[in-house]
Amino acid sequence: MTDLAALLQDIAGQMRSAEDRGKVADYIPQLARVDPGKFGIAVALADGTTHHAGDALEPFSIQSISKVFTLAIALGRLGDSLWNRVGREPSGLAFNSIVQLEYEQGRPRNPFINAGAIAVTDAILSGHQPREVLGEILHFIRVAADDPDIHIDEAVARSEQATGHRNFALAHFMAAAGNLRNAPDLTLGTYFHQCAIRMTCMQLARAGRFLMTAAGGARMVSADRVRRINALMLTCGHYDGSGEFAYRVGLPGKSGVGGGILVIAPGRASIAVWSPGLNAQGNSKLGREAVELLARKMGWSVFG
Ligand code: GLN
Repeated sequence: MTDLAALLQDIAGQMRSAEDRGKVADYIPQLARVDPGKFGIAVALADGTTHHAGDALEPFSIQSISKVFTLAIALGRLGDSLWNRVGREPSGLAFNSIVQLEYEQGRPRNPFINAGAIAVTDAILSGHQPREVLGEILHFIRVAADDPDIHIDEAVARSEQATGHRNFALAHFMAAAGNLRNAPDLTLGTYFHQCAIRMTCMQLARAGRFLMTAAGGARMVSADRVRRINALMLTCGHYDGSGEFAYRVGLPGKSGVGGGILVIAPGRASIAVWSPGLNAQGNSKLGREAVELLARKMGWSVFG
């Protein structure tokens, strides 16, 4: 049997010394300050044990990984009626693309591109105050991770609020198309704050356990939904890099521009990796390489 702890150390060592680390996101000024030399990886196994290496206990901005948690909350709250407002197809375009939204009359392709995630946040905001919804999102994640020490980084939220013109464009376009129920400012304020949640790899791996086993996840999300959220992560979790991630890693994953990726090996493990430098599609460059190595060495793949 492969020694997972040793393997993680080995992967962290390799990734630490990698020269081409990708490019840290700079369109959110606060994220541009993060050290590109960081690398962390953590794995929560189905047997309840956890393993980690590198900077796995250092918090980072989860950004779009938050979209997995808001999707789970929205499906729990609204059920399948959510799909009237957002689709389930890969977009083949950048996470913040605007062009497709106009072609498709304001109904975003899937819940993991920005437009789709803004629609999902808008759906859970209806009838509530932004701070109540943010409280619910944090509560969900803290329960999933079994760790109360998970918070929002206000400076990151403010930084994105000040520079998030593309997201404002997406939200206003959806409002014009009748696919936003709340004032764009309120929906986006909530969205920017959910993206600004800070977590360590260890916390994120533990929080992802509800997606690891359909049976084990039943406590928070029904078995059927666990399978479906995983299907969406596999097909849409890396935007226009989703096909490449599925090809190389063979597991459902969700990336964020903070450089984190949450990856699920169904029935086996919940994996979180963090390396701030991104590839051209806005996904963690070394993060992908690290989970590709891990999945291959462990024989983890949804394709057998
Ligand atoms: N908050 C970021 C944005 O909306 C999230 C994008 C991402 O992580 N891909 O631009």
